[in-house]
Amino acid sequence: MLHIQNLYKQFGSLVAVNNLSLDVAPGETVVIMGPSGCGKSTTIRQINRLIEPDHGSIVFDGVEITKLNDDELRNMRKRIGYVFQHFNLINRLSAIENVMLGLVMGGQNKEEAYDKAMAAMTKVGMEHLKDHKPSELSGGQQQRVGIARALAFEPELMLWDEPTASLDPMLVREVLVVMEELAKYRAATMLVVTHEIAFALHVADRIVLMEKGTIVESGIPSEVFVNPASHVGCQYKELIE
Ligand code: ATP
Ligand code: MG
Repeated sequence: MLHIQNLYKQFGSLVAVNNLSLDVAPGETVVIMGPSGCGKSTTIRQINRLIEPDHGSIVFDGVEITKLNDDELRNMRKRIGYVFQHFNLINRLSAIENVMLGLVMGGQNKEEAYDKAMAAMTKVGMEHLKDHKPSELSGGQQQRVGIARALAFEPELMLWDEPTASLDPMLVREVLVVMEELAKYRAATMLVVTHEIAFALHVADRIVLMEKGTIVESGIPSEVFVNPASHVGCQYKELIE
């Protein structure tokens, strides 16, 4: 489904992602963890080219993403959902309008967009709050709208960059529950950057640990957290114990 090979990105003299290779199978939920600044965001943001790679190859469903022109990339992004740490909702629009916006801009008519947006809002348990403005929603509810906005495109791949990191601890769970459901029903292939160890332990098919721009260890949760082979893995093991 997704084959990343020798991905490399430098900011000035700083090597943020250093020849990283990663394969993700269809339906798989892969959690990426690692210390702050190790290149997790830079890695996943290159997959939909929010950041342009310096070199390396990203093949999604047989298509080389790094070679797409602007039109092709726009279409590809409909197949790859992205959920941000900061929800980036538009405040003057209602929740449902936020979810519809991308669909309408992508050329769908309003009725069709509304139906798809409602289906996505239902999946995240937000249909009853559809007419609320973001400012009238809690952080967890806002993030569920953010998830619905990505889901409305029925993406094959979903990229998550610390989707619960901006949330009050009390509100983290409701977002993790939505993510867990999506993973359980294999609604999409998921690549998740998170510091939520319990989520990684119970939901990930595979955990990838990064350090200094590269992958230092990868395996099923019980393997990585119980019998770690890397320095970073040992640090997580200590946190669990
Ligand atoms: P965190 O857990 O804190 O989100 P991360 O693993 O996501 O960290 P990245 O955001 O990918 O880390 O950053 C990797 C490195 O690249 C860091 O040293 C960061 O300071 C640097 N970096 C990221 N984006 C830029 C940029 N646009 N310009 C310059 N340096 C950058
Ligand atoms: Mg980050």
